[in-house]
Amino acid sequence: MLDSVRIRLTLWYVSVLAFVLIAFSVGVYSLLSSALHDRVDESLRALMQITIKSLTNDEEEGQTPEGAAQSTAAELFNPEQALAIFDASGRLLAENTSSDDFYAQLPDPSLILQDEVSLYTVEDRNDDGEHHRMAVRRVTIPPLNTPYIVLATQPLERIEDELESLREILYYLVPLALLLAGIGGWFLARKSLAPVVSMSEQARRIGAKNLEQRLLVENPRDELGRLAAAFNELLSRLSAAFVQQRQFMADASHELRTPLSVMRTAADVTLEKPHREEDEYRDAIKMIGEQTRRLTRIVEDMFTLARADAGRYPLRASRFYLDELIEETARVGRVLAAQKDVTVDVAASSEFPFHGDEDLLRQMLLNLLGNAIKHTPPGGAVRLGIILARGEYLISISDTGSGIPPEARPHIFERFYRVDKARSRSETASGAGAGLGLSISLWIAEAHGGSLGLARSDGDGSTFVVALPAPAQ
Ligand code: ADP
Repeated sequence: MLDSVRIRLTLWYVSVLAFVLIAFSVGVYSLLSSALHDRVDESLRALMQITIKSLTNDEEEGQTPEGAAQSTAAELFNPEQALAIFDASGRLLAENTSSDDFYAQLPDPSLILQDEVSLYTVEDRNDDGEHHRMAVRRVTIPPLNTPYIVLATQPLERIEDELESLREILYYLVPLALLLAGIGGWFLARKSLAPVVSMSEQARRIGAKNLEQRLLVENPRDELGRLAAAFNELLSRLSAAFVQQRQFMADASHELRTPLSVMRTAADVTLEKPHREEDEYRDAIKMIGEQTRRLTRIVEDMFTLARADAGRYPLRASRFYLDELIEETARVGRVLAAQKDVTVDVAASSEFPFHGDEDLLRQMLLNLLGNAIKHTPPGGAVRLGIILARGEYLISISDTGSGIPPEARPHIFERFYRVDKARSRSETASGAGAGLGLSISLWIAEAHGGSLGLARSDGDGSTFVVALPAPAQ
């Protein structure tokens, strides 16, 4: 039951409200009780004051202490309060009510304070459990210096009745208020959580087959709307990754199929006739060997990208000089370029120390240089350069090829993308790429905190630029 947020919310709400209501009730009750008791004490003090005044007047008029006490008691008769006047030894001189037995409860006369009102609450012995407030004081009346003990009492019945009614009201009202608040809270929680329930039902229906479906966002500005929007964004990212993954699988199988079918055809055709010349066998095996190399390259590239995607390609960083690496790459490139009558120049004027994975960066430069040579016609030139600008090493690879068509430029870094698919795939040479070279090069640049982009491409050739963060001087 407590697994439901709705019930938990309601219980929390009712508990907090119960705490507040109980604290409030106790507060109101005790404030009212002390105000009512203070009022009784005040009126007893007032009666005491009047009694003393009246005794003084009567004595001044020449009355005996007993006479003064009796006339004062009679004069100050009041149905709410009772008055009794004693002499110093505690003998009753006068009283204006006879029904009570407070006298027995009068403290020992020797303990009664002179000129100071002491207040007590006593239980009525006749009635059941009823309380009385008593005020007692010892006074000396000036004319004859007569000592008196004055006792004034007032029943607390009225106050107790009032407080009891309040208690009863609170006993019924607090649970009733809690019940109503609980029911109201439950409905409120249900209403506010309804969008969450609906969202979870919608989310449950979304799977790999309908990843394009989205949650309904009723109010995108409120908290739940923002949650739904965030969930939808997550779905969009997942769906994009999913589409990419599917495309990758489709492209990969397509790429692998071509060399495989070339190999199978070569084998079948060669074996069709029982006897062949040695040259024919050689040609077939050579072709199979080339296709195997091509397959190996594609599979290695795919493996590199898969590990990079999974974040499991640790960089083996070391210190080296980029200008030396570029020079070394150019030397390898020149061997390839010489066959095509293409020149490879390097423009690196000083030393460029770097900290990174030398093997990966070599692979990146070889990819870019290989592409440049591949797309440059005989008689052309490829130029490698490096400069330091605004804290970055900018490595450029320019060629004098035919350039990349504008519509292909946004896609060249995509996996398996090739500008001229038909031509590249029909090429049987192992050098024909699968469209993964630039994807891998881009990943290598980014893994080093840098970037790779096509800076220029037109009829006169293309320039790729790698930017790598230069170490702080
Ligand atoms: P591949 O390994 O097939 O060469 P890449 O990812 O390296 O694939 O390149 C993608 C596409 O970009 C290639 O099909 C190629 O046509 C084009 N491209 C890359 N570099 C150049 C360049 N220097 N000049 C012209 N086209 C290029």
